[in-house]
Amino acid sequence: MSDFSVEATRFQTPGPSTLETERVVIAIANGEITAVAPASSDEAAVLRADSPEHLNLGHDTVIVPGMIDLHIHAPQWQQLGTALDLPVQDWLQTYTFPLEARFADTAMAGVVYRDLVATLLAHGTTTAVYFASVHEPATLVLAETCAEAGQRAFVGRVAMDHPDATPEWYRDADAATGLTASARSIEAIRTADAGRGLVEPIITPRFLPACTDELLTGLGDLAETTGALVQTHCSESDWHHAYAFERFGKTDTSALDSFGLLRNRTVLAHSNHVTDADISLITQRGAAIGHCPISNAYFANAVLPVPELLAAGARVGLGTDIGAGVRPGVLQQCHEAVTMSRMRRDGVHADLSTAERGAPDSAIDTTTAFWLATAGGAEALGLPLGVLEPGRRFDAVAINLDHPHGVIRRHVDLDDDERLFEKVVRLAQTSDISQVWVDGRTVHRR
Ligand SMILES: [Zn+2]
Repeated sequence: MSDFSVEATRFQTPGPSTLETERVVIAIANGEITAVAPASSDEAAVLRADSPEHLNLGHDTVIVPGMIDLHIHAPQWQQLGTALDLPVQDWLQTYTFPLEARFADTAMAGVVYRDLVATLLAHGTTTAVYFASVHEPATLVLAETCAEAGQRAFVGRVAMDHPDATPEWYRDADAATGLTASARSIEAIRTADAGRGLVEPIITPRFLPACTDELLTGLGDLAETTGALVQTHCSESDWHHAYAFERFGKTDTSALDSFGLLRNRTVLAHSNHVTDADISLITQRGAAIGHCPISNAYFANAVLPVPELLAAGARVGLGTDIGAGVRPGVLQQCHEAVTMSRMRRDGVHADLSTAERGAPDSAIDTTTAFWLATAGGAEALGLPLGVLEPGRRFDAVAINLDHPHGVIRRHVDLDDDERLFEKVVRLAQTSDISQVWVDGRTVHRR
């Protein structure tokens, strides 16, 4: 006996090159998908009959797995769409650190975070991996906000103490203070989740330039003793990549590994400049890359080699990188991941010959991009999500195909399911998203 069942055309990508489009009945009990059957089958009739509540979404709406955003700076929500005119290290000092420092005001943090979490849910972001700020109280407010709104989340207090790369008015006083604060924050978030398994802490050294060796060593130990996941930035820009060589005599990836921070399911934002040896190490450790294509166009000086990473067996998902990423929804990042990969394949300098200009065979398509946003992200975090199949949690998004305020239009003589899938990925906006579930609960309804 299920709690409820949903009947709809399901679009999902179980593999980077595998698109499935099928009308199905999905049965859900205690937040978990217990059975899926083709809508016309005898089994589907049984699932319908066994459900106290059966929701038929009709033929104007499709259902897709919930989107997973691997990289969000929650306290940068107010600067989304602005302040992208400087290189990343200047951008931090001029715009971002002053804004994040304001989250010492816990009441203000509550207002901003409630709006952020509600907006992301309305965009279909069912799992969010957050950098908060250095402040313990505001970090806990973010975790509580996610728990109240029903968003699956990893919430990290940002640890940063290096006097050369951070301002005196926005950093941990020293490594010991930062370690104590991060340890307390982990405990507080675990208490706030109250055993639901929805909101988890994540250890968050900002990036190597912002942290002293003592802090990084301590955070590596904290990851070992608490079992919490780790997130940080890795080899984002030319400057960031060169910095690690200057300070540690090795790559960013190797340095993170030597501090015990490159672990199973560690989320590395960006990583555009990783070497082949770095990719091997990332894969060996089971770490994952959060690819943020729009942000990369502004700050990374290069396009992430997604096909090469997938071929090497690396875990990769997508991130918005609010506020460096301009858009709050992961679907838009799918489109941009395709766009950026096309530019990498073809190159951008018309004065070079075609053969010299690009990186052949490096483009990805919408199926791969959507896989990154769903099943790829789930694999990155080690969660039973990303496809709507038995044994997975029911995190899902219903998307309307003909909403008058949206731009998806269905032309019955032209649009088969594959074309409709492309339209959904490229065009869907919040006006098209009619319902969002996390763990079987409705968390947004238009
Ligand atoms: Zn970031």
